[in-house]
Amino acid sequence: MAEEPPPYTERLKNLAETCKEVFKQHRLGQGILIPREEVIQRLECCDVCLHLMPNKKGCAKCGCLLSVKVRFKAAKCPIGEWKKKKEKQK
Ligand code: SF4
Repeated sequence: MAEEPPPYTERLKNLAETCKEVFKQHRLGQGILIPREEVIQRLECCDVCLHLMPNKKGCAKCGCLLSVKVRFKAAKCPIGEWKKKKEKQK
C-alpha cells in the first residue's frame, strides 16, 4: 500500500515554515532560488526515494509539491537526502 502524505494541518505547517524562511532570505536581499544544477540533483534524490508519492509529484514525508519545493534555497528534504547528496559531491 502506498504511503499516505501527512494530514493537511501538518502540510500547511511545513509550507508555512518554508515560506517564512524564503521571506526572511528575500528581506535580507539574499537569493531565494538555487541554481538549475542543484534543482536537478534534488530531483534525482526524489526520483529514487521511497517517499515519492505514486503520482511522482509529491513527497509523502512532508506533503509538498516537489516541482516547486526543490527550487527554493530554504526548502529542506525532511529526511536530509538532499543535504547528504550535496555533501558527497564536495
Ligand atoms: S523531499 Fe526527501 S523525503 Fe521527500 S521525496 Fe524527496 S528525497 Fe524523498
